Amino acid sequence: MKIVWQNALLILSFVAYQYFCLSHHSTIGVLRTENYSQIKVPLDYLLDKKNAEYGYFRDDKNNPKSRYEAINELVSKYDSFEASKTLCNMMQNPKGLAAVFGVDSLTSAILQSTCDHFEIPYFITSWRPPTTKVYKTVLNFFPEAKLFAQALSEVVKSLQWNNFVIIYETEEGLIRMQEILKLQTFESTGGKKTNILVKQLGTGADHRSLLKEIKVLTEINIILDCSTENILPILKQAMDVGVLYLGSNVFLTSLDAHTLDYSSLKTTANITTIRLFDNNNPTITNVMKLNKNEIKTETILFHDALLLLTDTVNALLNTNDLTMSPIDCNGPDMSRTGYTIVAYMKHKQPPNDTLSGPLIFDTKTGNRIDFNVHLVEIQDDREIAVWYSNNTLVLTRDFAEASDAAVSNLQKTTVIVASNFLEPYLMERKEEGEILTGNNRYQGYSMDLITEIAKIVNFKFEFHVGNYGPSKLDPKKKKWTGLIGEILERRAHLAISDLTVTHQRREVVDFSMPYMTLGIGILHRKPAKEEVNMFAFLDPFSITVWIYTATLYLIISVVLYFIARMTPGDWENPHPCDEHPEELENTWDISNCMWLTLGSIMTQGSDILTKGISSRICVSMWWFFSLIMVNSYMANLTAFLTKNRMEPTIESAEQLAKQSKVKYGTVDGGATQAFFRDTNYSTYKRMWEMMDSASPSVFEKTNPNGVTRVQNTPRQLYAFLMESTQIEYEIETKCDLRKVGNLLDRKHYGIAMPMNAPYRTAINKAILQLSEKGKLEELKKKWWKDKRTEPSCDNTPIENSDAMDLANVGGIFLVLGIGAALAVVLGLAEFLWNIRNICVEEHITYWEALKVEVKFACCIWKSKKKVKPVTSGSSASGSHKDERIDNKSLVHSIMHSAGSFMNLNN
Ligand code: GLU
Repeated sequence: MKIVWQNALLILSFVAYQYFCLSHHSTIGVLRTENYSQIKVPLDYLLDKKNAEYGYFRDDKNNPKSRYEAINELVSKYDSFEASKTLCNMMQNPKGLAAVFGVDSLTSAILQSTCDHFEIPYFITSWRPPTTKVYKTVLNFFPEAKLFAQALSEVVKSLQWNNFVIIYETEEGLIRMQEILKLQTFESTGGKKTNILVKQLGTGADHRSLLKEIKVLTEINIILDCSTENILPILKQAMDVGVLYLGSNVFLTSLDAHTLDYSSLKTTANITTIRLFDNNNPTITNVMKLNKNEIKTETILFHDALLLLTDTVNALLNTNDLTMSPIDCNGPDMSRTGYTIVAYMKHKQPPNDTLSGPLIFDTKTGNRIDFNVHLVEIQDDREIAVWYSNNTLVLTRDFAEASDAAVSNLQKTTVIVASNFLEPYLMERKEEGEILTGNNRYQGYSMDLITEIAKIVNFKFEFHVGNYGPSKLDPKKKKWTGLIGEILERRAHLAISDLTVTHQRREVVDFSMPYMTLGIGILHRKPAKEEVNMFAFLDPFSITVWIYTATLYLIISVVLYFIARMTPGDWENPHPCDEHPEELENTWDISNCMWLTLGSIMTQGSDILTKGISSRICVSMWWFFSLIMVNSYMANLTAFLTKNRMEPTIESAEQLAKQSKVKYGTVDGGATQAFFRDTNYSTYKRMWEMMDSASPSVFEKTNPNGVTRVQNTPRQLYAFLMESTQIEYEIETKCDLRKVGNLLDRKHYGIAMPMNAPYRTAINKAILQLSEKGKLEELKKKWWKDKRTEPSCDNTPIENSDAMDLANVGGIFLVLGIGAALAVVLGLAEFLWNIRNICVEEHITYWEALKVEVKFACCIWKSKKKVKPVTSGSSASGSHKDERIDNKSLVHSIMHSAGSFMNLNN
């Protein structure tokens, strides 16, 4: 038994000798500011591992190793005196201190300088601002501040945001943002410009007012630089004020942002952050034995720093005597090993099993200059890109994956679609006896299109329909109205209607691929069908003028008759050979007077003219009157007969611009109005000036109002400049309307959505699919033609002929016909009356006289006629009056008879 005890004592002494005298001990000081710190995990893990490698005996002289132990102390974050006292106590450790792992606190500076003084390596594992003060024993495992800022800037660039807001908490945050701020560009030449807004969080816990200021921005992209514990409260407030929605983006610069649980936010906003390590690396979880989303950056950096230190110490033991002895803070500096360790660490090839990637230090400053930054999407915990310290950024997620992520976000929410009531895009649906709810209340092209897109992308949607008015920028309020306003105010995820893609709108919202192509056209009324007016030749004078002229004709004829009777000049010698006649004769009976005045006004003249002075004055005045009247009539007649051709006919925008009779306008505040307002083309500029200055206003609130105005304005004196799609819809059933000329421009309708909306690609793909399948055309046909209840018009263009129709001059033919017929009737009456006279004079029967006269009249070759007719009875009785030998023609005789018939004198 005694021998057993003796042997055991011997072995124990040997072990104690080995352990205390031959083995090398390294004590590592750890200062922490939190009661519970994750660094205990890598600390225990690595020390166990390294000590296990060492074994219990320092038997391998060729490959000496150290045993490690740690002193882990809690220090105050703010009390430098207490912190340095703790450090001094640590340094008095009988085995000395191999290195100190410092803390990120206000006390850090004093700790660094103390360690530097006593040449003890001091390791930092958190961000520190750029400093000119260089401590030889300090190694910073956190990326160098400037390089880190550069990495942040590259990462932000890769997010491709045009505008963003930086919200920072402390001055240090602003230092980290320095390189990002350089992304601000002001390009006036049409290139992309980046606007950066910088805001500092206030001191209180409520940041809602600051977040509300951000809400008005067109694009919500936020870079939030704050402590990890403040992230969730701030994001919750952002949700409350409506800043976080489907399509807004948040980039968190905190390297521990991935450790938070965002599920309580229930946001569809896209949240991204960065990490210095890839937490999908299985080694990390094996080493840390923690949930991968719990592992903090400091823990990883601590692990790597400890790994590097232990490897260094073991390596140095080969060549150096790393004697570490206790240090008195008030005594002289004694150790030289600190410099050796730090210098070796700076130059050493980094170990392969680091968790935060490459570990290379600036040999002068001790700052880490090689590291990777992983850009991660929080919700799906997916890596998007990796930044490498040669300042290259590699996207690790392809475009399709990015789009999938956006789609999955879209599918999680009910997409709000804003729209206006406008035929045929969106109309109210009514079913008899049914109360319709939700999307069932609406129908139309927009409804069908969104339904098709939603089927492809697989999302739920809800229409928000209002009387939003035109989408324009109110220059006074500097706010967008209409559907664009709805998107900007985050009240809708999508907006669809007859929404034209314009560059001004494109600056504040994004548009999907075009689903309809169109251009500005002119809507005008078709020329009214010409009314057939046979008596159009009467139109030059009003009925009153005609009555006055006819009355005047009668009066003047009568006046002339009396004047001619009074004036001696018109009493003539009936037998000019008789120088002293007993009687004078006056040829101006009433029929002659009427003949003369009629001849004058018909511009035909007369074979007899008055000779008396007063009668001549009377006739001249009548001629003067006739001259003016006839010429006025002629002039007016030409105008009236070509009246329709003189109506303003508009066949192009150029013609419209050149004239001022036909007014024209557009929808107020729409894309068409903006086109004319902003154009540089002289014709359209002129048109805009005319429209802008017209009073009353030529602009209409809506397209249907414009259409009604075109229809109701008489004599086609109003044309409406409207988008061709709408014109097509209107002229399909409104047959009094037509589209004039060619389109003035070419543009598209698109679905509006917030700027850089992540679901844009998915919507675009769906539209492309619909277009390829011909669905877009089908929908257009359905709502433009098939679904119309009114009959379609025949819109084949009307041939416009310049020739005058017979109908227009028919009245003149009619007058001639009636006049000629009247003359024939009168001629017959005269003829029969003459026969009556003959039978009375010649004492023959009426029948005999008629036979002779008719027979003679039929002998058209005879131009001479006997005064007394030759009848069968007269020849039998020996009368030798065979034929009339009188030189008077039959016509003369008729005229004479007619003259006597009309002679009122007798
Ligand atoms: N589509 C136009 C717009 O989006 C409205 C109609 C127009 O201006 O002709 O503003």
